[in-house]
Amino acid sequence: MKRPKIVVLGAGYGGLMTVTRLQKQLSNNEADIVLVNKNDYHYETTWLHEASAGTLHHDKVRYDISSVIDKSKVEFIQATALKVDHQAKKVQLDNGELSYDYLVISLGGASETFGIQGLDKYAFSISNVNAARQIREHIEYQFATYKVEAEKKSERLTIVVGGAGFTGIEFLGELGNRIPQLCKEYDIDQKLVRVVCVEAAPSALPGFDPELVKYAMANLEKKGIEFMIGTAIKEATPEGIIVAKGETETEEIKAATVVWAAGVRGNPIIEASEIENMRGRVKVEADLRAPGFTDLFVIGDCSLVINEAINRPYPPTAQIAMQQGELVAANITKLVKGDTNLNTFAFDNKGTVCSLGDDDAIGVVFGKKVTGTKASFMKKMVDNRALFMVGGIPLTMKKGKFNLL
Ligand code: FAD
Ligand code: NAD
Repeated sequence: MKRPKIVVLGAGYGGLMTVTRLQKQLSNNEADIVLVNKNDYHYETTWLHEASAGTLHHDKVRYDISSVIDKSKVEFIQATALKVDHQAKKVQLDNGELSYDYLVISLGGASETFGIQGLDKYAFSISNVNAARQIREHIEYQFATYKVEAEKKSERLTIVVGGAGFTGIEFLGELGNRIPQLCKEYDIDQKLVRVVCVEAAPSALPGFDPELVKYAMANLEKKGIEFMIGTAIKEATPEGIIVAKGETETEEIKAATVVWAAGVRGNPIIEASEIENMRGRVKVEADLRAPGFTDLFVIGDCSLVINEAINRPYPPTAQIAMQQGELVAANITKLVKGDTNLNTFAFDNKGTVCSLGDDDAIGVVFGKKVTGTKASFMKKMVDNRALFMVGGIPLTMKKGKFNLL
């Protein structure tokens, strides 16, 4: 009998959890497993703010996919997936075509600009290793250029961060530590540097514990970060950004660096493949299949899971993507073995920890609030756990964070 072919698109948190579980649960005789990813490395998306600020080298946030897959069981194809033809059960890649019996889409998210003019052209987004490297180098270039220009342009030393969600706040935390280093390196008076966070909602980290939000803002302000809360970015221009001021007026903030950290959507491949979606995210069934499909699973930032308690989607996180990866592997294993009674997904929320730089953090873990070095220690434990879940002790020892304060 022909072995079923399982294709997993994306080697992020969800994809690697799926593949590393499948390779344990299925023998060579039972299925062919194929993993497709743009790069031959995986990156820890949850560490990209550090690489973007330059507080952690980008090589520290990535590792070779070949180091965690069992090559006797999993075929790795380095390619960009373009579209899924679900009628023909085929995936179009930039370098060919792949057929499948079971497909897992775990391609992560993309920046959501809500149609705001200029953002795609003039703003950076913390989206992958290439983008992180570019942001770090761009900021350094502005500092270096400021020193050599006869006419001093203060905007070279102004960085705008759009959005005070978790990504924006974590990036600001890194910048708070990085700016003094850059000032020293480039002989620049720190008083000349401005880091401005523009947040549309009435509070930073909307919906998060107010006491912890206050703690985070106070500590970031101590490091020189300015907040413009209740202020929406309306446009990005070659000179900086335009923000709303009151009902009708606007204000320009001149800045050579604008980092848009104000929203994510699902991977564009979902829309290109005409799978029912909301902003590129598929509201999956309880067994994590796309509605109406028996062979197509969607997990991670491409999926949308409703928190029944509040009837709203869970925020897309690595935590949920990894748990989904485990469940999908179990369900595909069942299908391959002829069992159609699939498991249903229930998110086990262990909490949220938000770093404020290498030395500080805030969080709610198992219902308890934590701040400062204790929270920072926990954040590093969470980061190390993600490595352990995929690559065990060897990967954790190689890439883990052990500067535990
Ligand atoms: P990803 O892990 O992003 O992986 C997607 C993979 O698909 C990548 O390897 C990518 O290269 C590949 N890919 C993309 N498109 C294609 C294509 N067309 N063809 C082939 N390959 C492709 N969540 C938390 O739970 N905790 C945190 O502390 C946290 N911190 C974060 C910090 C930052 C700065 C950011 C940006 C996000 C953070 N998140 C955090 C959210 C978390 O990173 C995402 O929810 C998580 O990465 C989603 O996992 P995923 O498997 O869906 O996608
Ligand atoms: P987000 O959607 O959570 O936050 C975006 C922020 O931008 C919001 O506060 C929003 O009000 C603001 N915003 C939107 N439009 C704006 C505008 N025009 N001008 C100014 N501000 C605007 O996005 P995110 O922070 O990138 O997070 C994405 C996902 O990743 C979330 O699910 C988050 O929980 C997760 N994440 C988790 C962690 C962590 O657990 N430590 C860290 C980073 C990201």
